[in-house]
Amino acid sequence: MDKERIYLSLSQQTGFENEYIQKALQTNWITSGGPNVEEFEYKLENYYKNESFVAALNSGTSAIHLALILLGVKSDDEVICQTMTFSASANPILYQGAKPVFIDSESDTWNICPESLENAINDRIKRGKKPKAIIAVHLYGTPYKVDEVHAVADRYEIPVIEDSAEALGSSYKGKKCGSFGSFGVLSFNGNKIITTSNGGALISNSKETKEQAIFYATQSKDKAVHYQHSKIGYNYRMSNICAGIGLGQMKSLEANIESKVINHNFYKNIFSSIDNIELFEVHDEDYLSNYWLNTILIEPDIDSNIDRESLRLVFEKENIESRPLWKPMHLQPIFEKYPYYGSRIAEDLFEKGLCLPSGSNLTNENKNRIEEVITTFFKY
Ligand SMILES: *Cc1c(COP(=O)(O)O)cnc(C)c1O
Repeated sequence: MDKERIYLSLSQQTGFENEYIQKALQTNWITSGGPNVEEFEYKLENYYKNESFVAALNSGTSAIHLALILLGVKSDDEVICQTMTFSASANPILYQGAKPVFIDSESDTWNICPESLENAINDRIKRGKKPKAIIAVHLYGTPYKVDEVHAVADRYEIPVIEDSAEALGSSYKGKKCGSFGSFGVLSFNGNKIITTSNGGALISNSKETKEQAIFYATQSKDKAVHYQHSKIGYNYRMSNICAGIGLGQMKSLEANIESKVINHNFYKNIFSSIDNIELFEVHDEDYLSNYWLNTILIEPDIDSNIDRESLRLVFEKENIESRPLWKPMHLQPIFEKYPYYGSRIAEDLFEKGLCLPSGSNLTNENKNRIEEVITTFFKY
């Protein structure tokens, strides 16, 4: 009999979702927006200590797109983006007809490199255009160098969109990720920390900005009895059913994050006795990761037949999902013609890095199977 598949990260039900979904159905609130959506926003704002404003949307991608729209990004503008990320961070730049400018990682957090960022800004200005926005990502739940990156952004007065899709629950110097930028972005896709099936949120610093985001997300209806539009509208609002799932999921947010930390310690324990492999983490207590995914770097060893791909194949044979790190955007066919600043740090991470199963529902039996594969593979 085939062994049950172990996935990288899958959300699990809390059991509370149904009550909210039923309420939506019974009251016939089955459209976008509604009481569940407002309550979900309220809960998220509470989570951010009521210092931020949250607009619930139908995806993290829509949230990034709306952030660009609200910052006035138009065709032929330039927008800076971390190269090491999921394509959803960069695609909305193209939706606006703008031009992405990609920046390498630095090796401490694997996120946007503050020096390459500053070089890029200077060079773009020299070439005649100051970038309109910076998209920085807290990859795999690890905060980027917030102080350094925002110091550069402030120096050139460029707003930061903080892609916190993977980092709900992470924090930097005690402040939650998603609340540092002009805009923060969350995702509630099925593989994130909590899910609404699909969904996302745009975090901002004022009630007016939140209301503007909702205005664009609900087809930009001007105040009038008839349908009147003076701006391009989008259908980006979260549905009341999805928000019901989110309200149920919120009840296990803290527990999910705790499970992720337990998973991280499980891997830490295994890799502490294996030479040359280090489980990725930032050794600085200012950086608190939610450990959305655990990742390792494997130095290829030709004599022992050890590299990233050979370990991945052994996992696959045991029906365990593992995956290379994000392939950098500047190497992607759709983005390779755009400017890139940096060296080979992101490329190197991509060649050597592997993401390991890290779902908050990993069982002890799952962990035993994973440990067996790793210890057998590295026994040489
Ligand atoms: C998941 C993710 C997104 C997009 O979120 P969706 O809700 O799937 O649209 C954006 N950026 C990063 C880094 C992500 O991991």
